Amino acid sequence: MRFSQYHFVDEIKHNLEKMGFKKPTDIQYKCIPNILKGEDLLAIAQTGTGKTAAFAIPVIHILHSKINPKRQTGIRCIVMVPTRELAIQINEVFTTLAKNTRVSSMSVFGGVEQDPQIAKLAKGVDILIATPGRLFDLVSQGHIQLHRAEILILDEADHMLDLGFIKDIRDLIRFLSKKRQTLFFSATIDEKIKDLAYSLVKNPIRIQVSPKDPVSKNVDHSVVFVDMDDKRFFLERMVKENPESKILVFVRTKVRCERVQAAMQRVGIDAVFMHGGKDQKDRLDVLNQFRSGKVKMLIATDVSARGIDIPDVDFVVNYDLPEHPENYVHRVGRTGRGMKKGMAYSFCDEAEQPLLKAIENYIGKQVKVLELTNEGYQEITTLSDAKNLRMEDIIDALSPEPNKRYGVKKAEAQKVDIVK
Ligand code: ADP
Ligand code: MG
Repeated sequence: MRFSQYHFVDEIKHNLEKMGFKKPTDIQYKCIPNILKGEDLLAIAQTGTGKTAAFAIPVIHILHSKINPKRQTGIRCIVMVPTRELAIQINEVFTTLAKNTRVSSMSVFGGVEQDPQIAKLAKGVDILIATPGRLFDLVSQGHIQLHRAEILILDEADHMLDLGFIKDIRDLIRFLSKKRQTLFFSATIDEKIKDLAYSLVKNPIRIQVSPKDPVSKNVDHSVVFVDMDDKRFFLERMVKENPESKILVFVRTKVRCERVQAAMQRVGIDAVFMHGGKDQKDRLDVLNQFRSGKVKMLIATDVSARGIDIPDVDFVVNYDLPEHPENYVHRVGRTGRGMKKGMAYSFCDEAEQPLLKAIENYIGKQVKVLELTNEGYQEITTLSDAKNLRMEDIIDALSPEPNKRYGVKKAEAQKVDIVK
């Protein structure tokens, strides 16, 4: 079935055409009729399968079609998301899909001034895409009226329910219209979270696409066994073999973001990094530099693992394995989005083997291992441009953070470097 055959208002169809969306994806095909009917929904589908439009299209259609002779104040739909970047991205999808309709949307998130958001809210808006902290602030200060809100959407629902916001969400629900519709969307879900979701709604319809393997089928993912101290050589090699490729590198901590960037800089590779400690403007600048391709490597913590849609990321690298196995699914899901294919590599040090096991348990299968011969491994480490650097510089760039190195002592780690 094509979008042109749906009974959407013409403006939405026109906008879909302009976006190049001809046919619904599986999750869109299954969700749209149920959302139009007013059902509550728990929708699970792999990363990059178009979950945003799966809720945005029918919601815009519903809000546009309902008679609204005089716009009263009050939000009609709330979309809750875990990060600011995601709030902006999802608002862009709503804005594009709702162009020339009677439906307006905006995003609110913390880390920036409240006043401009309050001023915009005062003009009246139908759909609000929000991170929890700022949303609760604005509601408690009386800047947001919720009594007309008839649709509540939790994107990245498992994460939203897991973040400790459940009490706030329950409180929020009490302000919403009694006849509200609730929609949960995510690529991952577990039993505990499912129970929490079901405690918020009566009889949601459960829609699950490809339940067995949560990793997107567009992502070819594998693991390479690499010593912690050699990981930078492998990353360097990847970049030098694929100079035109966009590479998203995930590390465990903020400090490691900066360290890996410094190590790359030393071998002439330009990279930017992003983590929760950066201010909002910096985070957006960095993301835009990477999005536009101005810089081809972004090094990030898990703050960027969820939801972010950069359509042409060629490789995801788990420079450090994720500590929460579901984040493996979200991280590798930053590539292979929409119709595109993508590759993901995990660099696994011996000390990270338990994390790999946990991931394999979670996804229900083994991750393909890329075997390297000793000579191959040696070649990657000895051909590095870093070999021309002074040893002190390298040690400075790589000395692990105190007490964070899976039990390997700092002195030992440095010794390894010096030997090389
Ligand atoms: P998810 O939330 O499932 O991870 P997104 O909603 O971010 O995925 O969408 C992933 C990508 O797929 C986006 O770049 C989006 O523009 C594209 N996309 C979504 N729906 C369609 C469609 N029906 N046809 C073509 N591309 C689509
Ligand atoms: Mg999404």
